[in-house]
Amino acid sequence: MENRTSVLVLIFVITSLISAVGLSILDLGCSPLRDLDFDGHLDFDNTHLAAIDFGNRHTSLPRAVLYPASVADIATLVKSAYRCDSLSDLTIAARGHAHSLNGQAQAENGIVIAMESLKGVIDVKNHGSLYVDVNGGDLWIDVLHATLKEGLAPKSWTDYLYLTVGGTLSNAGISGQAFRHGPQINNVYQLEVVTGKGDVLNCSKDQNTELFHAVLGGLGQFGIITKARIALEPAPQMVRWIRVLYSDFKVFTTDQEYLISRPIGDLTFDYVEGFVIVNNEGLLSNWRSSFFSPQNPVKMKNLNTKGRVLYCLEMAMNYMNNKTVNEDVTSLLSSLHFIPGSVFTTDISYLDFLDRVHTSELKLRSKGLWDVPHPWLNLLVPGSKIQEFDARVFKDILRNTSSGPILIYPMNSNTWDERMSAVTPEENIFYLVGLLRSSPPSATGNNSLEYLTDQNNRILDFCNNAGIGAKQYLPHYTSTSEWKNHFGTKWCRFVDLKKAYDPHAILAPGQRIFSRTA
Ligand code: FAD
Repeated sequence: MENRTSVLVLIFVITSLISAVGLSILDLGCSPLRDLDFDGHLDFDNTHLAAIDFGNRHTSLPRAVLYPASVADIATLVKSAYRCDSLSDLTIAARGHAHSLNGQAQAENGIVIAMESLKGVIDVKNHGSLYVDVNGGDLWIDVLHATLKEGLAPKSWTDYLYLTVGGTLSNAGISGQAFRHGPQINNVYQLEVVTGKGDVLNCSKDQNTELFHAVLGGLGQFGIITKARIALEPAPQMVRWIRVLYSDFKVFTTDQEYLISRPIGDLTFDYVEGFVIVNNEGLLSNWRSSFFSPQNPVKMKNLNTKGRVLYCLEMAMNYMNNKTVNEDVTSLLSSLHFIPGSVFTTDISYLDFLDRVHTSELKLRSKGLWDVPHPWLNLLVPGSKIQEFDARVFKDILRNTSSGPILIYPMNSNTWDERMSAVTPEENIFYLVGLLRSSPPSATGNNSLEYLTDQNNRILDFCNNAGIGAKQYLPHYTSTSEWKNHFGTKWCRFVDLKKAYDPHAILAPGQRIFSRTA
């Protein structure tokens, strides 16, 4: 009995001593950041490199950048931030290729994890079910190269491939194949995730299901994606890439919707997109659409379209070298209602087609027009409101603008899994409208950053006031009420999942949804 009392007294004295020097019991085993043991390393010096993104409008300096050499490095860092009182203010942002627009991959005074340093072996599996195991920090262009070596490729893409797997899966990942295969988040079999508690968990439709769905489209809020298993299909070799023009918006969207609504098994294109031509001048307007048709000498100036807003429907059909798609393409084109004589066609390799935006990037880079402010606005607009949107936005608010491409293409909501965190309008068909504008420092007047930002705000105001029911894609909000409105019926679940997987709100602070708690 006497011994037990002495032990208790000893524990009391040790505990009091620890409190007296400002440490809690939890901090036992907590090292200062600089002393944490990593396979990779923490860089406290060149933090400015992690303070910028593609948007070029937000800058938050982190206190250090982690270059992980293992998943354990990421788990160690997050676990320390979760457990240690001395790090109770620490936030952590996974940084993919930093192609965010509003500082979403930044962490003010936190730690940024350079996910690309975890790039590694891309392991293609081709027995029975086709898939590839990739790292969260792998770029899609590298995934494509690795899978093409095996004659395979992922099914669903983004238009631009210098983005990381973890970065696009945190949003959705959409392009002209989404109407058919769904967004990239719909083509994932399994993930490995480091949660906001520092746990490393595998998740899929059968295992840790809740986490799996939460992370896909979850804006980095529930865990850091360290590995992903992506569905593959046999890769085509060639692509017939076609563009046709419309001056009537209703006819244009009717044709787009016809192509994406063909019953499964019926002939249609493999890719359907489109864009608006409000003012067809200048490299910046056309960087995504500099498309010439060697087989077809049609020139815009011959089409007598001066002064009109035009709409371009963009389609692609995949094929193998030993097959022809002439008949199928002719048959599909014959059911469309574009301006006669406005068909632009080219045949290119599947790789060059998927990597098409990179060619434009190089062109812009060579002119110093890539690393400039990008006041982009991406909206998902319900199909039933797209005519109203056209009348007010394309034909009115944007009438005299020529600062970047304006994408518009429809998708089917039945190819999106409702259980995932990504938010879409509640209609069977909705459109992506992407205003991909640039504002070089030399831009003035209608092209200035201020003007374009104001235009974006006018478009958002119009959507709110007219009850358009649009959702931002790659959303950017600054208040809880806006986030609540964005997530709508998914908000309460989003909050509960946050409490479960990142209760101290350590992860992805740059999204500005939750605040760090001790
Ligand atoms: P980052 O910008 O580095 O990160 C984005 C968010 O995800 C941040 O909150 C970050 O913390 C989080 N994050 C990053 N990695 C991880 C991870 N491993 N685990 C968990 N969270 C993580 N999108 C489309 O859907 N379709 C397109 O066609 C398309 N084209 C684009 C073209 C260009 C030129 C650009 C600049 C962007 C385009 N985007 C497109 C948008 C793009 O998908 C997103 O901005 C995406 O987040 C960028 O990936 P990233 O690797 O740069 O991510």
